[in-house]
Amino acid sequence: MSDKTMQPIKVPFLDLQAHHAPILEEVREAIDRVIQSSAFAGGPFVAAFEKDWAAFCGSRYAIGVGNGTDALWLSLLALGVGPGDEVITVPSTFMATAEAVSFCGARPVFVDIDPQTYTLDPSLLERAITPRTKAIIPVHLFGQMADMDPILEVARRHGIPVIEDACQAHGATYKGRKAGTFGIAGCFSFYPGKNLGAFGEAGAVVTDDAELAARIQSLRDHGQVRKYHHKYIGWNARMDGIQGAVLQIKLRRLAAANEARRTHARLYNELLSDLEEIVVPQEAPHRTHVYHVYAVRVPQRDRVLDALTRRGIGCGIHYPVPVHLQEAYHPLGLREGSFPVAEQCAREFLSLPMYPELRPEQIELVVRELRDCLAELKVKPHACAA
Ligand SMILES: *Cc1c(COP(=O)(O)O)cnc(C)c1O
Repeated sequence: MSDKTMQPIKVPFLDLQAHHAPILEEVREAIDRVIQSSAFAGGPFVAAFEKDWAAFCGSRYAIGVGNGTDALWLSLLALGVGPGDEVITVPSTFMATAEAVSFCGARPVFVDIDPQTYTLDPSLLERAITPRTKAIIPVHLFGQMADMDPILEVARRHGIPVIEDACQAHGATYKGRKAGTFGIAGCFSFYPGKNLGAFGEAGAVVTDDAELAARIQSLRDHGQVRKYHHKYIGWNARMDGIQGAVLQIKLRRLAAANEARRTHARLYNELLSDLEEIVVPQEAPHRTHVYHVYAVRVPQRDRVLDALTRRGIGCGIHYPVPVHLQEAYHPLGLREGSFPVAEQCAREFLSLPMYPELRPEQIELVVRELRDCLAELKVKPHACAA
């Protein structure tokens, strides 16, 4: 196919309408109850969801907040991170992880990722620690948890708290335990496209630490400890009542939806296994990947993406520019070559359609079209392909 015409969408990248169709009635009734009670900001619907979310994760407390960025930012603030401090994270993440650090007045310090799991490489962690390091934020990228044992071991030895960025890892596990429960705090986003998504913006922090939970609860509500009594300078980062009500309903389907994603990933992996141009995602031992994103690696990624898009296959890039090379972080003075694995991955990552309602025929079609694109563009084999 050499003409550059655009074909109609054959397989969308995401299909939230299909995801919501079976629960619309239930959700409308729940929203009605919120309207009738006028509990729009925080309140009983948020409290009920917090209880369910803590139980799902296996943590003592969950604190609903405005979004995932708030969850990260308030966790750092609650730990006392501020100007002059450093916080270690990875460059292969959404901007929000580093932004939350900067918004505390602290400085993000990056550590490269492991080329198999695309998460923080524990062997590089210790050398990034300085006397100013106040927290470590591993990111469970694409739905697979970072290698928590060695990360926690280094952190413990240096007395540094770990905050998990679990914004892409709702229900993912490491040695049987859920994401968010390993560090002192686990941060979640319920942005609509996440594995558990609200009908708008929402997020949560989970923790077993009563003092930290109380502080985040207060910080999300202007530092109040009771109405109009402000112990801290906080912010307005409350969760909406409507989001609490919707999330409670959607949470009941999260485990099955994650299972469906895992089944789709297995089919993709199988159908792509003979392609020397493609590196498929690997599930590391003792981990359950929940495939928020199904990202492969491919040479000439931009051309492949363009060709696939023209053929009506929805795809994306997560993320085209690693955080240390973003314009906003030029003042850090980090150049190309600072984090070679993250940079190489950013050039090669290609995210294929992934959502629970995807059908096997659609996956087959995506792979067929991808196969044609690779042949048409004469893409070279990838050095890391099996
Ligand atoms: C989505 C996301 C966030 C931010 O969450 P918001 O709810 O959009 O603020 C943070 N970190 C990662 C890794 C994310 O994917």
